[in-house]
Amino acid sequence: MLPALDLASLFITNSVVAGVSCVVLSVIRRHQPGLSGIGNWAAGQGAYATGFLLLYISMVDAFQRTAMPGFFFCFAGALLTSLGFHRFLGLDRRAVRLALAAFLAVLVLLPLLSLSGRPGLVIAATIAVLGSTAATNAWLLYRHGTGQLRPAALTLAAQHGAWALFALARLIYIAVAGFDRQSAVSTLAPAMLVATLMLTCHALGLVWLVVGRLQEHLVRQAATDPLTGALNRRALLARLEQERTRAARDGAGFALATFDLDHFKQLNDTHGHLVGDATLVGVVEVARHLLRPDDVVARLGGEEFCLLLPGVTGDAALALAERVRAALPRLDIISAAGPVAVAASFGVAWYGAHGDDWPSLLKAADGALYCAKRGGRNRVMAAGA
Ligand code: GH3
Ligand code: MG
Ligand code: MG
Repeated sequence: MLPALDLASLFITNSVVAGVSCVVLSVIRRHQPGLSGIGNWAAGQGAYATGFLLLYISMVDAFQRTAMPGFFFCFAGALLTSLGFHRFLGLDRRAVRLALAAFLAVLVLLPLLSLSGRPGLVIAATIAVLGSTAATNAWLLYRHGTGQLRPAALTLAAQHGAWALFALARLIYIAVAGFDRQSAVSTLAPAMLVATLMLTCHALGLVWLVVGRLQEHLVRQAATDPLTGALNRRALLARLEQERTRAARDGAGFALATFDLDHFKQLNDTHGHLVGDATLVGVVEVARHLLRPDDVVARLGGEEFCLLLPGVTGDAALALAERVRAALPRLDIISAAGPVAVAASFGVAWYGAHGDDWPSLLKAADGALYCAKRGGRNRVMAAGA
């Protein structure tokens, strides 16, 4: 016969594990104030730590006065953890309000249930609430934990899913026994042992999610221009390689349009560099807004940009460049020195006709851009025209 699990030791162990996680997450939150949700997780772990401590104290109190508050703190821990997932994953506030409403409903429902004089029923309701929270978390992580977050999100989703299934198994066991107190209480010790495992893995999973988010930030920073958010040259070259592979494989061409803002030095001199910066940001926004979702807007440097237009060559590519060119003078930027006149000259080259790699296509597009400048600026020229 296996020795019985000691409930008091399990309560205090869980309290310590959650307490340590609370401290670690609080430190991470302090150092990463830009990440949302971590504060909720830290508070959630703090609530678990308090809840398990109260449950531990209830073991040495003949009247078990701290048991009910202990369970409520554990509820609060589950709720705050779930809120943290919502905020971390950037989900809408309606779900957050729904979670709060559910928590308030539980707050009212449980004391009412306990009036029924059937503690088995109260314990079952507690398990049902915590189990459904875990199932919701598993779904959220599976559905919304994408990109760099995927490995951590899937691991955590599996963990929450397992916790939900365990809760279901407990519920079935208690229901089969007719919700009697003894059978409900007998599931508590194994559940607390599983909770120790869950809390430990959960804390590691949360830290892993944070690492995934930071990795996402790094990857984005390494690929974008900090002022305009356009892709930088490195990322543009990587995209161009993808397009080259695709073009060689299925024959779908692509075009490269370089453009340079006209008289930008004068714009800076007249309106100041801050207005110049705002103009660069506005130019990228306009291009993004007008182009197709797959088109790439990159900043080559200074006031020089490059559009990578997949799937188009010839007139179709020229038409896309023309669409952006025509919109730039309509950019509504006002400075103290009056309205800001924005225009740019474009050179367009495409795969096949003007080259098949970055150096040849850039050279062809730049040659056309130079012609556009010499021809009077604020126009689109095709390479070789
Ligand atoms: P052109 O029509 O021949 O292209 O004339 P231009 O004045 O646009 O060209 P030029 O190369 O003489 O000047 C480019 C200016 O772009 C000079 C530089 O101060 C400005 N510039 C480059 N990068 C930035 C930036 O990040 N912010 C701001 N505000 N200005 C920038
Ligand atoms: Mg220039
Ligand atoms: Mg210029």
